[in-house]
Amino acid sequence: MQENLAHLVDVLATRHVLPVEDYERLVVGRSPELAAYAAGRAVELRKAIYGTDVFVRGLIEISNHCKNDCRYCGVRRSNATARRYRLLPEVILSCVDEGYDLGFRTFVLQGGEDPWFTDDRLCDIVASIKAAHPDCAVTLSVGERGRASYQALFDAGADRYLLRHETATREHYELLHPAQMSFDERMRCLRDLRDIGFAVGCGFMVGSPYQTSAHLAADLKFVEEFRPQMCGIGPFVPHHATEYAQCPCGSVDLTCLLLSLLRLMQPNLLLPATTALGTLDPRGREKGILAGANVVMPNLSPTAVRGKYELYDNKICTGEESAQCRDCLGARMLSIGYQVVVDRGDPRQDQTA
Ligand code: SAH
Repeated sequence: MQENLAHLVDVLATRHVLPVEDYERLVVGRSPELAAYAAGRAVELRKAIYGTDVFVRGLIEISNHCKNDCRYCGVRRSNATARRYRLLPEVILSCVDEGYDLGFRTFVLQGGEDPWFTDDRLCDIVASIKAAHPDCAVTLSVGERGRASYQALFDAGADRYLLRHETATREHYELLHPAQMSFDERMRCLRDLRDIGFAVGCGFMVGSPYQTSAHLAADLKFVEEFRPQMCGIGPFVPHHATEYAQCPCGSVDLTCLLLSLLRLMQPNLLLPATTALGTLDPRGREKGILAGANVVMPNLSPTAVRGKYELYDNKICTGEESAQCRDCLGARMLSIGYQVVVDRGDPRQDQTA
């Protein structure tokens, strides 16, 4: 391992910022030794705040109807082969009830940009969940909406919002998305969400088509400056019915290195070991935790629809019941010396600092 790269890791661990050129040096100069070093330091910082606790979020995939047409995504509007579904409010609420009994205290409602989920309908769902389970957090991940819509959802009781920025480089964003979508609009949404008071998650894919090391460095810089409460990153995985069907998958090792760098940058960041990581490597989520992640998101969607929420090919956990998913992830965490906790999983502050 190059000593100067280890030194950059040390600087990041103590000062939590680096010039964008140094992020790029770390990405370009990566090696297994550098990744192991960064992971060691990341785990040390995380331990001081979260011990060996891993937070869980119950993921409910509420709809795969989408008015958007992101080029990489399997549920994009122009994929005529997608089998479309949406969950009725009462089905969503019963998934939540089941999840509550299984120990979940955060529910993530994620879906395509489905106009059926008007503000009124979504607000009703959020308010019903909060009324039934006041001790739980509700996270929304339903894409780009107007500021007034985000405000209404917040007022209805939603606590958090996940909206990956996908890439912090405008030119790259424009390659991955159709002309109707705009980088500025994505950024406007993230700013509005933050101003309104949501705990906000941004994030990006690793190894998406056309991505360079400079793009990843810009993503790290963006996260450093935006200071989200959460950051979702996972490897790109091609979907057979998109123009990127033949593109290579993102790298699990690079994703893990980036998880470590994000942890060093923001020691209390809520950082999931994603399903995409588990899709490319049977031990991907364990590797993500060992690199510095501290969140896992078992699937609580009804088994009948899971296979249809197909963002990319070969997505895991599509055949299991919710309890199986929870137990499987719980056992995986125990196998590496961590435990899933019954907790809303809000950011904690460093006890030793
Ligand atoms: N409509 C919502 C939810 C999108 S799905 C929104 O716009 O935020 C959640 C995430 O899955 C996306 O933000 C994207 O980063 C990721 N994703 C989509 N297609 C993917 C693919 N082919 N490989 C890996 N991740 C993908």
